[in-house]
Amino acid sequence: MAKYKLEYIWLDGYEPTANLRSKTQIKEFKSFPKLEELPWWGFDGSSTRQAEGRSSDCMLKPVAVFPDGARKNGALVMCEVYMPDKKTPHPSNGRATIPDDPGAWFGFEQEYFLYKNGRPLGFPEGSANFPYPQGLYYTGVGYDAVGCIAREIVEEHLDLCLEAGINHEGINAEVAKGQWEFQIFGKGSRSAADQVWVARYLMMRLCESYGVDVNWHCKPLGKDVDWNGSGMHSNFSTTYMREVGGKEYFEALMAAFDKYKNEHIAVYGPDNHLRLTGLHETQSIDKFNYGIANRGASIRVPHSFVDNGYRGYLEDRRPNSQGDPYKIAGRILQTIQTVPTPAVKKGKK
Ligand code: ADP
Ligand code: MN
Ligand code: MN
Ligand code: MN
Repeated sequence: MAKYKLEYIWLDGYEPTANLRSKTQIKEFKSFPKLEELPWWGFDGSSTRQAEGRSSDCMLKPVAVFPDGARKNGALVMCEVYMPDKKTPHPSNGRATIPDDPGAWFGFEQEYFLYKNGRPLGFPEGSANFPYPQGLYYTGVGYDAVGCIAREIVEEHLDLCLEAGINHEGINAEVAKGQWEFQIFGKGSRSAADQVWVARYLMMRLCESYGVDVNWHCKPLGKDVDWNGSGMHSNFSTTYMREVGGKEYFEALMAAFDKYKNEHIAVYGPDNHLRLTGLHETQSIDKFNYGIANRGASIRVPHSFVDNGYRGYLEDRRPNSQGDPYKIAGRILQTIQTVPTPAVKKGKK
């Protein structure tokens, strides 16, 4: 038997953006614990805007577990928040709104800024001072473009995520100085979103020791300056989209996305009007459109999708860096479910 450090992680009740919270529980196991072996736990919801002081208990239900490379015998335990009856999901629990669909796949492209002393890493001191304009930072190399600690942090984060079994697909330096991206892909309607939250947690925890903050806001420098905002492009597909698809179904799907555009924007992250302006590779917030390989569209249709008979995945470019991937995945699947899938002819897959 060994004593394991179980870091129970959950989302608090702050609005419009929930914060990550966590605390450690020590338990003995023969080997690295399986999800079924992890007990429910509780916390004081009156300190996290999830309960009144008089009846303050909230319940934590473990939903995914990952090895914690930074701690001996450490485990990262992602949790959903439930009411004390352990049956009713807490109103803040976005994960509980995601429809069950093992055939759904999501790929999230998480952009973010690293900040020190209230400004992006590498920005000179003084609010009126800027580094040279955007151009050479995106996928750049060299101290001038990316500085020194940024890459160290990003690489260390990548290793921690890989050790945890998080399915990173890649990382890159982004368009603004101090801005970076990682991509996470997962199969099943909840898996990629679980992994994004744990990856966010690992990034924030790692940055503590560098005296650096992670700024997830979608437009931290404001909308009036020529610095890119941060998105979380959400790539998605279902079994039907990948295997049957077709132009007719695609057009019906896009009509549904148009119909529910306000419901989508409502869960695509706060302050998105600052980012979705029609500039900087975005469509404006009040319009919905789609386009083949169009990075100025709400939904970008990859060339491969059309070449493959309107089969494959689509990229919703509207979600922002501060959006809750649980709510985003939930909304996308809810909209997809409103579109009838024509019965597949016999003999065809
Ligand atoms: P770009 O920056 O050009 O938009 P990225 O490579 O950053 O592209 O992100 C595209 C993401 O699409 C990949 O990281 C992957 O997670 C996701 N993806 C690829 N195939 C599928 C699929 N069939 N279903 C859902 N997501 C997918
Ligand atoms: Mn990308
Ligand atoms: Mn990007
Ligand atoms: Mn993208």
